[in-house]
Amino acid sequence: MKDEKKINTTVFVTKPFLPPLEEYIPYLQKIWESNILTNNGPYHQQLEKELCAFLNVPYISLFANGTLALLTALQALKITGEVITTPFSFVATTHSLWWNNIKPVFVDIEPERMTLDPTKIEAAITPKTTAILPVHVYGYPCMVEEIDEIAKRRGLKVLYDAAHTFGANYKGKSLASYGDLSILSFHATKVFNTFEGGAIVCHTAEMKHHIDNLKNFGFRGETVIEEPGINAKMNEVQAAMGLLQLKYVPKLIEGRQSVVQQYKDALRSIEGISFLDDMDKVEYNYAYFPVFIDSNIYGRTRDEVYIKLKENNIFARRYFYPLISQFPVYQGLESAQAGKMPVAESIAEKVLCLPIYPDLEKENIARIVGILK
Ligand SMILES: *Cc1c(COP(=O)(O)O)cnc(C)c1O
Repeated sequence: MKDEKKINTTVFVTKPFLPPLEEYIPYLQKIWESNILTNNGPYHQQLEKELCAFLNVPYISLFANGTLALLTALQALKITGEVITTPFSFVATTHSLWWNNIKPVFVDIEPERMTLDPTKIEAAITPKTTAILPVHVYGYPCMVEEIDEIAKRRGLKVLYDAAHTFGANYKGKSLASYGDLSILSFHATKVFNTFEGGAIVCHTAEMKHHIDNLKNFGFRGETVIEEPGINAKMNEVQAAMGLLQLKYVPKLIEGRQSVVQQYKDALRSIEGISFLDDMDKVEYNYAYFPVFIDSNIYGRTRDEVYIKLKENNIFARRYFYPLISQFPVYQGLESAQAGKMPVAESIAEKVLCLPIYPDLEKENIARIVGILK
């Protein structure tokens, strides 16, 4: 019998990429031979080098996950007081401020790219504001020039949550190279994964040294503590996964691009469903495929569509609904009050991220599109 490709009928919003196990085993054997499991081991060092080359960034410090990278980046920049940020992100963005005893100040997003609206930032600056924490949502660039101009003029730091941007470029540069610092996430669900993992991208050797100390309890040498640090180190098993996985990234992004193209071709004709257009000077990583459902035109609400897909074993996700500012822990903040961020509030009701991963089958894309039609 000819092998028949088995099509999975249950489709999740994403599927973590695993390279062939037999390619991973030799890396594990080396770890067993060397007995070096963590603490800036050989794979850790090699992955930092290879990522700098792949992303074309000057310095990278690897982390156990993206949230620890965020927490540590705020410490490294000595950010205190208030920070201007977006409500349209994954909760870790705001949690990292909270864990540093920093007050989040939410500012609305702009409707073209769903990122922090630079025209609304200045009104939110107070004498306590020390930084801006924007997010390149779905891997689409923030309005980096405008944000950086405001930050320079007002003496603020910029820390980008670049968790969605692995492999995405803007004006020929990695999106992770903008701002004072950028953080990446290598969580299982991201474009590039190390099971769990993350990184901080920085611009000077001094800053890299500072960050490397902070993620290792503040140790400098055996007996000297430079500052109060944390344990946020990436281990060798994770770093090995990264080295192996990195070889596949260009292919993975190509696969994602093909899925997006199929979706766009099929959905373009449906009234009431829209998606983000390609932008000038942007090379995407196709990390997510968000669609926006205008229920007045489409005739059904986003939640009706979400439920309908679920009934068919297709698990789309409402990223980002609720907004971070709508979670009970943050609701009490003045900037979180209903009506203050009309764009984000409206988008959160319309958005639905459709399943996307490099080998999502044509048959399943057709099924999803069929249900939407
Ligand atoms: C995934 C993600 C994070 C957190 O990264 P982890 O590696 O899961 O800790 C932070 N911000 C955004 C926008 C994310 O999507």
